[in-house]
Amino acid sequence: MAEKIQGIVLKSNDRKEKDVNILLFSLEKGKIWATLRGVKSPKAKMKIAQNMFSYGNFIIEEGKGGFVVTNYESIENFHELAEDIDKYFEAAAVLELVEKIDFSSAGERAQAFVLTLKTLKNICFSNIARLYCLDKFLIELFKITGSGLYTDKCSACGNKDFDNLYINYAVGELVCVACKNETAQMLSRTVYMALKILDSTDFERLQTVKLAQDSELELLKILCKNFEALFSVKVKMMGIL
Ligand SMILES: [Zn+2]
Repeated sequence: MAEKIQGIVLKSNDRKEKDVNILLFSLEKGKIWATLRGVKSPKAKMKIAQNMFSYGNFIIEEGKGGFVVTNYESIENFHELAEDIDKYFEAAAVLELVEKIDFSSAGERAQAFVLTLKTLKNICFSNIARLYCLDKFLIELFKITGSGLYTDKCSACGNKDFDNLYINYAVGELVCVACKNETAQMLSRTVYMALKILDSTDFERLQTVKLAQDSELELLKILCKNFEALFSVKVKMMGIL
């Protein structure tokens, strides 16, 4: 039975002869592999659907060897990303993060899908400073998966009178000096401010934000470490970390 799903291509693998397998992140089914038949020939109708970042409506049918794509209607292919290596790496990092985690419900998955598209659009089509979108993506992803990070008080004891906050990686929470565990890392003032500002600023207004120099990269390292601890995965982030 044919099914229509809305999805974005996370990656593709060559298969035999002219076929290509693609890993889709879809709104309806989450992450699934599907085969594009005959797309390596230059005149293939669905050629574009094998590219990373291709976003559109896929008609899929389940056969003996898994799902096969029988039609593709492109909505956006983000081909501008190929013209700016920094933007490309940042957008590829977003897809890497999405690929690494399993969402616990359809609602969570739908929110993550919308967030992914919004982040890619902002990286691709806006002039937001480098890495701000990727930081913002991680901050929002933690909220979606029930592990929101930013707080103005210790997450454990509620103390508001702190000199510094520490991040407890095992649980992904900001805590005071009395509540930190042995793997905790202190957040510098500038990194804490960067987190606070990005947490409260919508994507639509990120262009107006200016963070302290290098705080976006320091914050990203902490967010990535938190991501790895929360989901028990390793992150590469080629071209960035
Ligand atoms: Zn505390």
